[in-house]
Amino acid sequence: MIPVNTPLLNGNELKYLTECIETGWISSEGPFIKKFEENMATYVGRKFGIAVSNGSAALDIAVKAIGIKEGDEVILPTFTIISPAQSIVYAGGKPILVDADAATWCMDVNQIEAKITPKTKAILAVHIYGFPTDMDAIIELANKYKLAIIEDAAEMHGQTYKGKMCGSFGHITTFSFYPNKHITTGEGGMLMTDDKTLAEKCRAYRNLCFKPERRFVHDELGWNYRMTNLQAALGVAQLEKIEQHIVRKREIGALYNHYLNGTPGIELMPVQTDYADNIYWVYAIISKHKTAIELMKQLGEKGIGTRPFFYPMHWQPVFNKMGWYANEQYPVAERIAEYGFYLPSGLGITDDEIKEVSETLKSVLKD
Ligand SMILES: *Cc1c(COP(=O)(O)O)cnc(C)c1O
Repeated sequence: MIPVNTPLLNGNELKYLTECIETGWISSEGPFIKKFEENMATYVGRKFGIAVSNGSAALDIAVKAIGIKEGDEVILPTFTIISPAQSIVYAGGKPILVDADAATWCMDVNQIEAKITPKTKAILAVHIYGFPTDMDAIIELANKYKLAIIEDAAEMHGQTYKGKMCGSFGHITTFSFYPNKHITTGEGGMLMTDDKTLAEKCRAYRNLCFKPERRFVHDELGWNYRMTNLQAALGVAQLEKIEQHIVRKREIGALYNHYLNGTPGIELMPVQTDYADNIYWVYAIISKHKTAIELMKQLGEKGIGTRPFFYPMHWQPVFNKMGWYANEQYPVAERIAEYGFYLPSGLGITDDEIKEVSETLKSVLKD
């Protein structure tokens, strides 16, 4: 069986974890937290990093810290994981959806302006699979209509947009360190901002809004979304190797392209756009004839793990039950959701496995 993801933990992970155990620092009070926050902030080029328990928690905090409340609208792609959309809903706001761009599968920025209303407070850009969202267009709209930018960079550690680091664009940005991301802490996430007031809000929301002057007194509600020192120890070790991880991700992409270029029945991701080189967070393909479900089943029978694409937000039963999106159509997102899936492409995959996956896929496509 070749799983869809295997992480790579071959640096100082064990050494730093042992340090946590030997010193007894296993909670969120420990030296690796600050170190991971500072090292990540330096890497991305931001002033503040706030480590949290996962990427979805980071989004909950981001949306609340930026001030989204009852009645506000936030524009985001329909083609995304549910995390950013549910954070908006938890804050009392409404996610307003935009279709995917046919080439990059990120939000089609040309469709955003038509969705802006007096209730719009923010644009939430989610970078998807290989490419960043076209940020210049978003920055221009945000300036024109005085909107906040929230950037979900969970899949883009180390990716750049026109040479500038992803994660550096949002007034507030979030990362995830789930095991399939470019660097992992098992479970984990981080917020980033250059705004001191926002950073302080994030720190408060992460830790139940304890008042600094008097613990156990609260002016506001927050969460316990703290990261542990154990997770941060992993993060510090992983970040030391991020450049190698990114080189390997692009090698994995190039090797799959080598085997699969020109294969009938599938479309491959572009290698680059005019603003970024594909980082191949996952190696994704679009089937032209069989549905993704059919092909994935056939591959699964031959021992190849796969994962389907995101399921668009306008199709989510939970939102339809709320009376939202029933009549909305987003043809690009609908097509890729039905025909797209990704192949094993975690950092732990070997070149031989990539060859085996490619050959199996080609044989299954001929059936
Ligand atoms: C992984 C991911 C998240 C969620 O992160 P978790 O750490 O799994 O909660 C959010 N947004 C995007 C785009 C992701 O890929």
